[in-house]
This record gives sequence, structure tokens and C-alpha cells, in this order.
Amino acid sequence: MFDFVLRDARIAGRTEPVDIGVSAGTIAAIAPALPDGPPERSADGRFVCTGFTETHIHLDKAGILDRCPICEGTLQEAVRLTAAAKAGFAADDVHARAKRVVEKAITHGTLRMRSFVETDPRAGLRSFEAMVQLKRDYAALIDLDLCAFAQEGLTQEMATFDLIVAALEGGATSVGGCPYTDPDPVRHIGLILDLAERFGVPADFHIDFDLDPENSDLPTLIEATRARGLGGRVSVGHATKLSALAPEALDRTADRLAEAGIAVVVLPATDLFLNGRSAERLKPRGVAPAERLARRGVTTAVATNNVLNPFTPYGDASLIRMANLFANVAQLASDEELSLAFDMVSAQASRLLGLENGLAVGAPADLVVLDAPDSAAAVREIAPPLFGFKRGRLVFERPPAKLFGP
Ligand SMILES: [Zn+2]
Repeated sequence: MFDFVLRDARIAGRTEPVDIGVSAGTIAAIAPALPDGPPERSADGRFVCTGFTETHIHLDKAGILDRCPICEGTLQEAVRLTAAAKAGFAADDVHARAKRVVEKAITHGTLRMRSFVETDPRAGLRSFEAMVQLKRDYAALIDLDLCAFAQEGLTQEMATFDLIVAALEGGATSVGGCPYTDPDPVRHIGLILDLAERFGVPADFHIDFDLDPENSDLPTLIEATRARGLGGRVSVGHATKLSALAPEALDRTADRLAEAGIAVVVLPATDLFLNGRSAERLKPRGVAPAERLARRGVTTAVATNNVLNPFTPYGDASLIRMANLFANVAQLASDEELSLAFDMVSAQASRLLGLENGLAVGAPADLVVLDAPDSAAAVREIAPPLFGFKRGRLVFERPPAKLFGP
């Protein structure tokens, strides 16, 4: 009656371990002891979740450190170096670099992902076409949302707008804007939201990426999102200006974001690397306080952003590592706080992408076994995912380390 049973699994919301019966790629039963018979595998009392959700990554420009000599380590330099490298991107080169990151992400337990893809006069549609192919190649292992993205502005180079339209017609499932690189951020936001409405896709903005508490683009976006009734379909990444706000101003903004239905993605590796370069000592952290936003009802996620490029010259696409990095920077300590950090790479991250991924009967059998007893411990210890299933099919295995004792 089951294709297989995953036994002795600890799951959120239950005190005793359970067996999970899988049938036709779906969770068919969750019970303390399912009958013997079908093929089985044991989680050995470890924590089982539905895998991680990457809400913000740039697969198209990952792995280009060899072509980008970093001198300043600033956002401006990163945009400039990447723009120059991008002109030389060929479809097979983008596919090969993106494939490496996607495979790493899957082996780190990520089963759903939104990747931005730059479509502008430098990249043309070459990166996008490579990503469409990659999405097709890995469809059985990971759900990939491709976000056609205007990294270098829009209103000063409207050819980008036409290429984004072409990408949306060619299967992009979300649209991304970047008002901070546009001479007219207000019009930029309007144009991206026009496309979101026209194609019925979510919009995701790189926004407020500096530490000046003034000149935020958030009020414009909040107002436009409310006026157009796009709540729940709009998200922002970075928003590092929020880390420069006084507590009362931060709470007011959090309430307006929650009310408007705008979600926030924090990208700790990049935000820590690029921000605060002018400080000679006592460098600001420059990471938006997502835990405070979450407590006021904002949907929040923690994500990878970049891997091995001028925006972030590090990275292994591990979201449990990113949740740990965020928890450390945000000074989280209690089980409840660490479990919130876990949610920011799982349940809340899925909600941000408009996906349901609860571990429940009837849900897709996306199951990942972590080497930890619960979600808080997994974040504390950066617990490695040991094996995982996508819609009931085994998609990776990461055998535990072996110690040869004294
Ligand atoms: Zn980004």
C-alpha cells in the first residue's frame, strides 16, 4: 500500500518519533508505527523536514571569481565587474556554473529555489535560455522559479524591459527589479509591478542596499503594492537600510510591510561582505533584523544570494549554514529563536514563494533527514542533511563522517 516507509522520524509538532508512508510521490500516512511490508529506510530518530527553500540566489553569475579581480569589495564594484563579465557569458558556460551550484544546493537539502536571471543588453537571453534548460534537466530534483531580473536598472536602458518581457513570454515565473541602480527608482518600481500584473507573476525587488536610514524606496513600494492589491505577491531582498533604523522607526516600517503583504529576504553573506566598507573599526553588521520583522508579522526568509563572485566570494549553497550565520549575527539564543531561523529557510521561505510545504498527509513527499533531533539543534550545529527525497524519489545521500578512534 506504500511505495516506501521512512521510519523513526522526529517531526515538528510531535513529541514521539513517527513513520511516514509514501505513495505515488505523496505523503500517504504519518503514524507511530506503520505496518511492515513495503521497502523502508530509517531516520534513526533524527529530525525530518520537507527540505529547504532557497528564495534568493543568482545561479547565472555564480562561480566567476576567476574573471573578476575584486579590489574594493563594494556593491558598486560588484555590479561593475559582473556587468563586464556578463557580456562574455555563453549559454553553455552559464549552464555549467549554475548546474554546479544547483547540485550543491540539492545535496544540502534544498528542494525549491528562486533564481534571478539577468536579461539585459549585455546578457541578452543567453543566460535565461541556459536556465530554462537547467530547470528542465533538474525538474525531478528541485522546483526552480526563474525570476527575470533588471540588475542594472531599467528606465535608462529600456532594451532591458523588452528582454524581460521576452523572458516572461518564454517561461519566467517571476519578475525582479533593482531600483537602487536606476536613475528613476519610482518609475522602475512601477514598470516592474506593471509586468507582475500583466503576466500574473510575483515581483521581487533588490532594494535599499546601503546603511543610510534616509532615502528608502520602501515607502513607494509599500504604497504601490497596496494600491494595486498585490499583497502576498511582492518581496524584497537586502533592505539593509532597516538595520540603520531606530527601533521605533523599524517597528513602524515592519507594521507597514506586514500590512501591505510584502515579504523580506535577508542575505547575510553578501550583506556582511559588502556593507560597512568605509568603517575603519566597529564595522556595522548591515544585516536587516529579520527576527524583529518576523515578530511583527512580516514573512521573512534567509537566503544565499551569491556564490563565488564579486558580491560574495564564498559559498556552498547550504541554507542550514546560512541560517546559522544569520542566527549568529542576529545574536539569537533560545530554542524558539533558533527554530524561527530554521523557519526562515523552510516554512516562511516557502510561503514567500507562494508554496505550501507542510509535512502532512496529502502533501508532496519532499523529505530531508537532518543529523539533529530538532530544528533548533540543526541551526545551532549546522546539522548536515543525510539524505532526502523529492516527491518520494531519493535525490541525494550524504553519508555521516566516520571517525577512526584513538
Ligand atoms: Zn540578489
